[in-house]
Amino acid sequence: MSVPAFQATVLSFEDARRAVEEQAALAQNSDAPPRGTEFVDLLAASSRVLAEPVLADRDIPPFPRSTRDGYAVHVTDLEQLPATLDVIGEIKAGEKPENIPSNVAVGHAVSVMTGAPVPPGADAVVMVEYTARHGDQVEISKGIRPGENIVPRGAEARQGTILLDRGLLLHEAAIALAASVGKSRLQVYKRPQVSVLTTGDEIVDVEATPGPTQIRNSNSYSLAAQIEKTGGEPVLLPIAPDEPQSLRRLIEQGLNSDLLLITGGVSMGRYDLVEQVLSEMHAESFFTGAKIQPGRPVVFGKCGAGSRTREKPGTYFFGLPGNPVSTMVTFELFVRPMLRALAGMHPQPLQFLSARLKSEIRVKPGLRRFLPAMLSGQFDDTHVELVTWQGSGDIAATARANCYVVVPPDHEEIVAGEWISVMMR
Ligand code: AMP
Ligand code: MG
Repeated sequence: MSVPAFQATVLSFEDARRAVEEQAALAQNSDAPPRGTEFVDLLAASSRVLAEPVLADRDIPPFPRSTRDGYAVHVTDLEQLPATLDVIGEIKAGEKPENIPSNVAVGHAVSVMTGAPVPPGADAVVMVEYTARHGDQVEISKGIRPGENIVPRGAEARQGTILLDRGLLLHEAAIALAASVGKSRLQVYKRPQVSVLTTGDEIVDVEATPGPTQIRNSNSYSLAAQIEKTGGEPVLLPIAPDEPQSLRRLIEQGLNSDLLLITGGVSMGRYDLVEQVLSEMHAESFFTGAKIQPGRPVVFGKCGAGSRTREKPGTYFFGLPGNPVSTMVTFELFVRPMLRALAGMHPQPLQFLSARLKSEIRVKPGLRRFLPAMLSGQFDDTHVELVTWQGSGDIAATARANCYVVVPPDHEEIVAGEWISVMMR
């Protein structure tokens, strides 16, 4: 059943986020990812979403691997130190199997290199740093535990184990793992298409020369960057004027993609027409505001009109407040989990770190605030400070920032030196 269209519903940040996560889970279980899969070369797989499990094609490592340059020995030979052992051979990484001694007897040692197979019989590798070579003998000055400096065959993974599963955003370690098991191509989900519709009579294209009271469209570009980072493919629609018919036509066009982001026109002004138009289109809304700053008027809903297929009962959309910082923040907080689901990714909770506040913050309570800030310092001396800004239209301040400080709604003052949550950009 549909939620009543566009009843004003202002939620706490947590409830609004939960509403998005619930819909994201539904989308993931029903028809996502909407565009199917494709194969890409491993070199083009970074930041794509894996659509097939990747298995170990053999035991990893396939042989007991020495992790050091040194000598393969019997641990029991090193009970009395220093110990002198006969060196019966040398094994380098990639050594032909026929050159590897079939057994290392008590009293014997084999010189081995990092990445080389440890021969049968030996049960530890002594680092070369603790040895002195004298012709065919080696003197060892340090004792060792069984298994030290050896990774046993199959210890990292057994043949046939699932190493990487569907839904993983491919990072460099996953790509290394895929390469290590011979996957030169990977099956990934096709990127969902995300339409971006900027609204406002005052907004002009980036190439245009703005009139004295006009401003250039920056939101479509910040959103496109965030969409790409989250695994989507941005589709920029023409700028919509603050006029219902053209706005509706463009919203209908946008609803043909997998997700629609509208910026501007969701506040309380006379020309903020987005909610009115969506309501006329019988869209359902999950919320029409969240108790946050910046970004309070953010809207989340679903609309059937304009959907491509019968199987697709509707398209999710977000109405993001037009102030550029609000647009960026509300994407991070709300759009990202939905887009991740449509891209086929596993859900991921918001991630925060803690840092010490460098100078105090005073705010009116009631809203959870995500304020542009600068995180600096290192190791145990990491601190964060708000950047000076002129409010949620201040793109320059936000570009100077590298994170957002999160101020809880029940706080009026946070003093310097206190720990505070930080959301990285
Ligand atoms: P609105 O949400 O439509 O009330 O817009 C809020 C503020 O954001 C106004 O100052 C708009 O001029 C500005 N704004 C709206 N859309 C954009 C955009 N695409 N790029 C830059 N600024 C915008
Ligand atoms: Mg506007």
